[in-house]
Amino acid sequence: MTEIESKQVCQAAGINTIDTRLATSQKEAVAISVGIGFPVVLKVASPDITHKSDAGGVKVGLGNKADVRKAYGEIMASARQKYPEANIEGVSVQSMARPGTEIIIGMFKDPQFGPVIMFGLGGIFVEVLKDVSFRIIPIVRRDAAEMIKEIRGYPLLQGYRGQEPANIASLEDILMKVSDFIDKTPEIRELDLNPIFAYKDGAVAVDARMVLEDNASG
Ligand code: ADP
Ligand code: MG
Repeated sequence: MTEIESKQVCQAAGINTIDTRLATSQKEAVAISVGIGFPVVLKVASPDITHKSDAGGVKVGLGNKADVRKAYGEIMASARQKYPEANIEGVSVQSMARPGTEIIIGMFKDPQFGPVIMFGLGGIFVEVLKDVSFRIIPIVRRDAAEMIKEIRGYPLLQGYRGQEPANIASLEDILMKVSDFIDKTPEIRELDLNPIFAYKDGAVAVDARMVLEDNASG
């Protein structure tokens, strides 16, 4: 599923995601951006492109109409060049979220244990340091609290050198909602909220990716 479809499903499951709309032309991208208000982010929208940044498909901090026009052209050109076979629907348009602590919450199906939920800090913390925690779904709130506390980077969530602390309760909420949703929806094979921006007063997913089971319909 595309980023937009994945975010819609998450919203329906009560998981806070940044409002995101599809533009199928440069003109539409500009109109949506004006509607949302600058600055905005544009991303390639294609069910065939999983890692949008690697395809040159993410442009952040676009401050005006001209920026949006230019970004639309660049994203399309780059995606077509890198993925000539991909079906490209257009671009997704969303507001630029203010910086927060980047969190990752994911779900995959382990052949032995079934659905597993993962929590970690974004960027190098996950990719290089593998600083993540796991639980088998379904979890209870206490598991969610423990998952957050047991990562080595936990002090960063409490506010470090003037960094804004993360609202732990909203992160627990997202973990619980993902667990409940996956427990009720066996059609989902994989789910990635990467990243979620965590703030003092809440948290919002700015990217979502869902993969359905082969036999899932619709
Ligand atoms: P992908 O993971 O497919 O490469 P993302 O949607 O995660 O693409 O975007 C790449 C990065 O751009 C994110 O990790 C985040 O740092 C930044 N980003 C994405 N969307 C937003 C947004 N709405 N506001 C601010 N930053 C964003
Ligand atoms: Mg991402």
